[in-house]
Amino acid sequence: MPAAIIDGKAIAAQIRVALGSEVAEFSGQTGVTPHLAAVLVGDDPASAVYVRNKQRACDKAGIKSTLHRLSAETTQAELLELIEQLNNANDVHGILCQLPLPQQINELAILDAISPLKDVDAFHPENVGLIVQGRPRFLPCTPHGVQQLLVESAAEIEGANVVVLGRSEIVGKPMALMLVQKGKAANATVTICHSRTKGLAEITRTADILIAAIGRANFVTGDMIKPGATVIDVGINRVDDKLVGDVDFAAASEVAAAITPVPGGVGPMTIAMLLKNTVAAARIAANA
Ligand code: NDP
Repeated sequence: MPAAIIDGKAIAAQIRVALGSEVAEFSGQTGVTPHLAAVLVGDDPASAVYVRNKQRACDKAGIKSTLHRLSAETTQAELLELIEQLNNANDVHGILCQLPLPQQINELAILDAISPLKDVDAFHPENVGLIVQGRPRFLPCTPHGVQQLLVESAAEIEGANVVVLGRSEIVGKPMALMLVQKGKAANATVTICHSRTKGLAEITRTADILIAAIGRANFVTGDMIKPGATVIDVGINRVDDKLVGDVDFAAASEVAAAITPVPGGVGPMTIAMLLKNTVAAARIAANA
């Protein structure tokens, strides 16, 4: 039987509708409209699309969003100045600095400069530390989206063998940390794999839940998947003008019990979780 499709687009839409109601109630009670400030530096077309999609989703949920667009020649000092202004702006609750940044700017210096209370991407070391200790303020959007997909698809996470392919700070590492925590939608036994991992296929075949986040088109083949596994494909790769994931979808569907499509899987969930964090940041600011 082919794998069930985990419809991230539909699940994200439900979450956004619920958030819209939450925002209306919060704004009614406090008079505050949650506000996301997005910073886009340079002319990368993919980044522009991502930011536009995030802003559209904000609008639909009743969240205010403003875009700060800077040229590709912007210096680190100029960008730090803008971040400082946004940190100090009382009506801004979340700050999103779209990556990648141009070469002359040190990404870590910028991410470290964003106030941890407005860090809706959850990249600041203080927020990462809180995640490590199992008492998160904000959860990083993509891993949180994946976790929600696992919950919504009724995957058994507790006690499951989870293999995370990729150890980036944005996806792989926080993903593994979140699933290994004590608590709900966690308590998994987690293995992280990366480009130096030996015997990768043997390890992935042990996974009840396989999460691929490596950025290699169709890398995970059917024989790397345990029959009946849940497969979450975080990858977004452009091949001949088509978007494909890190998993060979057709082959994997023959083996897995459930699988996310690309597009329409993790991507929409990432945006929904960003909105959630923006509302959470507004609540922190309003003490509500
Ligand atoms: P990075 O390039 O930062 O990290 C890739 C990771 O994959 C690294 O840890 C790397 O290992 C590992 N890797 C690369 N090649 C292999 C290999 N052959 N075997 C095993 N491991 C390998 O990518 P990101 O984490 O930022 O993104 C991963 C993918 O997810 C990309 O396609 C990206 O576009 C997508 N993405 C999707 C999002 C969404 O919303 N759907 C959000 C964010 C990312 P090493 O550390 O050893 O180099």
